[in-house]
Amino acid sequence: MRNILAIVGRPNVGKSTLFNRLVESRQAIVEESSGVTRDRHYGTSIWNGKEFSVIDTGGYVKGSDDIFEGEIRKQVNLAIDEADSILFLVDVSAGIHPLDEEVADLLRRQKKPVYLVVNKVDNTKRSFETSEFYALGLGELFEVSSINGSGTGDLLDAVVANFDTEFESIYPEGIAKLAVVGRPNVGKSSLINALMGEERNIVTDIAGTTRDSLYTRYNSFGFDFLLVDTAGIRKKAKVKENVEFYSTMRSIRAIENADVILLMIDAQNGFESQDMSIFQIAQRNHKGIVIVVNKWDTIEKDTHSTKQFKEAIYDKIAPFTDVPILFTSVVNKQRLLRALDLAKDVYERRSTRITTSKLNTIMQEEIENYPPPAVKGKYIKIKYITQLPLAYPAFVFFCNLPQYIRPPYKRFIENKMRKHFNFTGIPIELYFRGK
Ligand code: GDP
Ligand code: GDP
Repeated sequence: MRNILAIVGRPNVGKSTLFNRLVESRQAIVEESSGVTRDRHYGTSIWNGKEFSVIDTGGYVKGSDDIFEGEIRKQVNLAIDEADSILFLVDVSAGIHPLDEEVADLLRRQKKPVYLVVNKVDNTKRSFETSEFYALGLGELFEVSSINGSGTGDLLDAVVANFDTEFESIYPEGIAKLAVVGRPNVGKSSLINALMGEERNIVTDIAGTTRDSLYTRYNSFGFDFLLVDTAGIRKKAKVKENVEFYSTMRSIRAIENADVILLMIDAQNGFESQDMSIFQIAQRNHKGIVIVVNKWDTIEKDTHSTKQFKEAIYDKIAPFTDVPILFTSVVNKQRLLRALDLAKDVYERRSTRITTSKLNTIMQEEIENYPPPAVKGKYIKIKYITQLPLAYPAFVFFCNLPQYIRPPYKRFIENKMRKHFNFTGIPIELYFRGK
């Protein structure tokens, strides 16, 4: 289970600067070449061998500078709900601001680990000015300079030492973990209720566990799934507004703990930017994806409706369009088990293993028919292909000049891989390496 670290604080204290420092730059490079836009507010980091997610919650709040108390309250409450640890950033050059007191007050009243981080401590002189922040009543403080990186190592040592890495292992291995995600009101809890039955007590109470169980086992109609964060979906949202970061942040934990996600959208609204954020978070985490267009009963349909609807979605999620799309109505109980069927297929495909000989025979023929274009008179030769032993499909193409493989050629290869081996609903990763 990957821990989530949220950065909170009022505008201009340096949250996004710190975020960028914590999130690996390697990640940015990999993602740009694979067509995933880099999310400026959500990323992964690794420290002392522990991988974790970082969220700049402030980044999701619009209207930056003249932020209101209510906005910051939302931001902080969300971080409290969704993160495992919280970095509360303040700015030494500005001193204590009334909004800092507001945030400190919210953070003192909850139990998750909070790290008070005094930013912009670029030199020793500023280090003398940090003690005023003890008045926020949060105990120990960490001095950092997000711009030059000083102090961040000590901070991360403390943060990861506190991470809870224990994994809930009460369920047998090999059961698909399925998360239903999407914006508020699309029908997620209705779907869960329809599947589980309203009156059934679905909260598995495991002796000795202190927190809510993350998974609920669903075992009917021939399906066996662990539904992720079912209780969280059923619990009605405290935040009513359809704020952008809200559904995205709520989805992050569920996605990270799933193998496959049902990304549910409302047929009346179509596929919007928040749906895209969720889609990309699943994509970059290599999770299987099924898109479920719910409330299909509310749409006036003709024979082209599903086709047009699908095309509109594919336009938005391109270039990764090899994704199943299903039209459901939870109220009419239409195609709900079909959604589980698709999820099961995607789950099984995700662990596909292709033998090296098959991979090389099939793909070398494609490559021979359309070799990578020569660069500066140099020929590029792909010598050998092999699958990596990972939880999701990832392949290495060994070649003489990997740096000359361009995104269009990579896409060509991906399309051929998808044509020959069924990866519908699965983000795949192709690496070109020198040999
Ligand atoms: P956010 O609104 O909290 O995300 O703040 P930003 O990360 O956008 O930073 C606000 C301003 O503070 C920018 O001009 C940054 O360059 C500056 N800044 C951030 N961190 C530091 C730091 O460690 N030292 C100094 N001197 N400036 C910083
Ligand atoms: P959640 O916030 O995503 O969990 O959404 P809910 O399950 O609470 O559903 C929000 C509203 O949409 C409720 O009033 C549901 O009854 C309604 N709803 C859910 N599914 C459907 C559907 O397939 N068709 C129609 N017409 N309404 C639906």
